[in-house]
Amino acid sequence: MSRFAIDLGSLRQGRTLVELEAAAQEMDLPPDGWAGPVRGAFEVEKTGEKVTVRGSVAATARLECVRCLAEFDFPVQAPLEVFAERAGSGRQRDEEALERDDYMKFHDGRQLDLRANARELLLLELPMGPRCREDCRGLCPRCGADLNVGPCGCPRA
Ligand SMILES: [Zn+2]
Ligand SMILES: [Zn+2]
Repeated sequence: MSRFAIDLGSLRQGRTLVELEAAAQEMDLPPDGWAGPVRGAFEVEKTGEKVTVRGSVAATARLECVRCLAEFDFPVQAPLEVFAERAGSGRQRDEEALERDDYMKFHDGRQLDLRANARELLLLELPMGPRCREDCRGLCPRCGADLNVGPCGCPRA
């Protein structure tokens, strides 16, 4: 069983708080792109075979600044909401169509794997042109020195 899955076999009816944690690699995220594990904290509500999951996923991305090329850690957090029903309770074609909606899933009564949902949410939070800080000075176009450290001595254009 995936470590980022809710164990439905032992889940009681009603509300339960569930915390999950898994390494980036286990989430099918590139291990170099992330510092530390992916964590989830969820309120899970089970009513019969219906399961509602609400909470958030958090992780720290390791990004490269587009200006100075330095690596920096970028904390990411995203709300996650998933509704799941037992597979086989409806027609299969309907279930497949519904699963294309991000927040509707079907479970087998044993586990509800949240890896794909969490991964997608985290990736959506990543900036297109990451900067180590808002006012990053970048690299000198002549000598390549990191201008955040100080002026490099090249004549200013
Ligand atoms: Zn930078
Ligand atoms: Zn320079």
